[in-house]
Amino acid sequence: MKRILILLSTVFCLLCGCAQNVTSQTRNFFAMDTVMAVTVYGDTCEADSLKAVQIVQNLEKQLTVTDEKSPIWQLNATGEAELSEDAAELLRRALQLREETGGAFDPTIYHIIKMWGFTTGEYRVPSEKELTDALAEHQASSIAMDGNRVTVSGCAVDFGAVAKGYTAAKIAAELTEAEALNLSLGGNVQLEGTKPDGSLWRVGIKNPQNTEEHLGVLELKSGAVVTSGGYERYFEENGVRYCHILDPRTGYPADAGLSSVTIVSADGFLADALSTALYVMGLENAVEFWQGRTDFEAVLVTDSGDVYVTEGLQNSFSGCEFKVITR
Ligand code: ADP
Ligand code: MG
Repeated sequence: MKRILILLSTVFCLLCGCAQNVTSQTRNFFAMDTVMAVTVYGDTCEADSLKAVQIVQNLEKQLTVTDEKSPIWQLNATGEAELSEDAAELLRRALQLREETGGAFDPTIYHIIKMWGFTTGEYRVPSEKELTDALAEHQASSIAMDGNRVTVSGCAVDFGAVAKGYTAAKIAAELTEAEALNLSLGGNVQLEGTKPDGSLWRVGIKNPQNTEEHLGVLELKSGAVVTSGGYERYFEENGVRYCHILDPRTGYPADAGLSSVTIVSADGFLADALSTALYVMGLENAVEFWQGRTDFEAVLVTDSGDVYVTEGLQNSFSGCEFKVITR
């Protein structure tokens, strides 16, 4: 009987292409100010993984705010610029999401982000007067798009909250030959296709109180998994911690009672934008926002350590106690 089983499994392997023989290529590199790892599975993995790195490097040049050669830098410095197709598409989607999130996600607050020193690393706490003036300027600001030509007045554009998610989605869309993909762009995870051994992809969610540990694990077939947390980038002054996600309505770091938000969605851009937006919103508003949509699921961790999981993920998440959020 045992021999027949071995024979049958060998025949099955030969017919299906044995899972263990699938080739893969992983490339680790630094881009967009963070560490990245790209794993491509399939016969074309060598060329495809290289292509993935090139897509990241190419988009980084177009989307960065700190390089004087980028059109976004030019837009912020001069008030107008002709953007690349990708940058314009990203800006259009980002502005639409600003509307949908009631301004919790706002890609036009770079002038305020800069005042805090985020993205440059020269951290400081702006005075109340500086922030009040900046907010008044922001409220009166405008941004207009005519095709790919953009003009801004009284504000500045920053893709810090969406560039990695958009990039991961773009790689997934372009590498059509790959059998499967596992992208980790500075914590922005995007999973495509079936893992060679047929098992589900596993993504650990960090414990915001101790980032060396995992709070739990998500097991998924595919999609983007993006986490935003105050612990990712912050500075401390006089014992107060200031995180890099700002509440655009106050100009101060978001402080709505959440310590991390993980979004799962088929769309990498959306997952990235919403992880930032829901972090700003806080639990109650985030739940209400989720109840009005069907294009994402979420894991929310409060400052007191309570974990909330939207119902679409209740069977995918494990590792700790959690409350299920229903519609
Ligand atoms: P990370 O970059 O660590 O993955 P996020 O995706 O949440 O984290 O993006 C945070 C970055 O987005 C900040 O460094 C800043 O450049 C920008 N940002 C901060 N607050 C907002 C906001 N409310 N809306 C849009 N962008 C923001
Ligand atoms: Mg984000």
